[in-house]
Amino acid sequence: MNRKLISHPYSRRRFIHDLSVNAGVAALAFNGLNLFSSCDDPNNKNKASNMQEGDQKKLGIALVGLGNYAGGQLAPALQQTNDCYLAGIVTGTQSKIDTWKSKYNIPDKNVYNYQNFDSIKDNPDIDIVYVVLPNSLHAEYVIRAAKAGKHVISEKPMAINPEDCDRMIAACKEAGRMLSIGYRLHFEPYNLEMARLGTKKVYGNIKKMSAGFGFPIGDPTQWRLNKSLAGGGPLEDVGIYCIQGFCYTIGMEPIAVTAQEGPKTDPVKFKDVEQSLTWQLEFPGKIICEGKASYAEGLNFLRAEAEKGTFELTSAFNYSGQKGNTPEGPMDLPKVNQQAKQMDDFAQAIKNKRPTSVPGEMGKRDVKIIQAIYKAMATGKRVEIK
Ligand code: NAD
Repeated sequence: MNRKLISHPYSRRRFIHDLSVNAGVAALAFNGLNLFSSCDDPNNKNKASNMQEGDQKKLGIALVGLGNYAGGQLAPALQQTNDCYLAGIVTGTQSKIDTWKSKYNIPDKNVYNYQNFDSIKDNPDIDIVYVVLPNSLHAEYVIRAAKAGKHVISEKPMAINPEDCDRMIAACKEAGRMLSIGYRLHFEPYNLEMARLGTKKVYGNIKKMSAGFGFPIGDPTQWRLNKSLAGGGPLEDVGIYCIQGFCYTIGMEPIAVTAQEGPKTDPVKFKDVEQSLTWQLEFPGKIICEGKASYAEGLNFLRAEAEKGTFELTSAFNYSGQKGNTPEGPMDLPKVNQQAKQMDDFAQAIKNKRPTSVPGEMGKRDVKIIQAIYKAMATGKRVEIK
């Protein structure tokens, strides 16, 4: 195999151009999905936001939940964004307030707790609320943010059941606000390249795919191991990236699934959720996608076997450091700050009144797939995905 760095047709220049003018991978890869979020009502009924029509100012984002992802990734990314900035915080922990205020120059008037959060409706500095709480709390805070007249980003998974997704989508639609999911990899060049190679059939039809994402989980008391807060185990947390990878690489939605729970080597730690599981998603055209999610081992890959060879990411879902190969050699694509791109894209979508490429409907689709995988795992039967 030719191992030299190849110049992909989807070049650095083309990629940068695409990032600046379109909404990322969606138009390429999600043909079957209505990309217009229900929340993309341009009427902007609620006028609490200070964003004026055609206004090119940076939109203010308030982060809800100042945990590891908000503090380690999103706040630093918001120092690199062009179309939005960190304007406010919502936290239940008094000690975090001073640290965040001084580190990010956040005024007192933009600091909220979970009790007074709804009064954010009167704050014109906040255009977008970004919910970064444990999974089962996304629905409540997205709905409250929409009712406060704010555009909303929900972290993945969007919710722990499709009914909550429906309520979230409806609340944003009712408020005339946009809803987006924190699917950062839709703005990451190597994953975009997988989508291009797959949907454009550059190496012919995909015959099968595989993906795995996992890590050994530490603290046994954390919410990720509590079903009522997490919705489930590693499938909810990291397996969702494999599901996403299959969908954007193939450019279709799955129609059925089988699944198997892995062994529990630590039944105390994993009393509430699975330790690991494997699943097989069937896509139209008899494409089978084998996924694995684990809280016991390190996994991080996305592979497509096509008629003319295999293309893959051997380091697929991390915040940086993606690596990829094609039948023509390694991929060589730009490194970006995924979260900065993701948030800037949403801010641009709001400003330009265009749909987001990662809408609530996509979040709901994935929540439905996750539910089907759990049903297949519990019953041992093939479950159709409607
Ligand atoms: P975390 O535990 O580090 O932070 C959670 C925050 O929620 C904490 O500040 C905690 O105080 C707060 N909180 C409020 N109410 C809580 C309650 N009842 N129980 C527990 N915590 C409560 O978690 P995290 O890793 O930051 O994950 C938060 C969300 O972000 C999750 O939905 C997760 O799936 C998502 N996430 C996404 C990515 C990504 O790459 N897109 C990466 C990590 C996490």
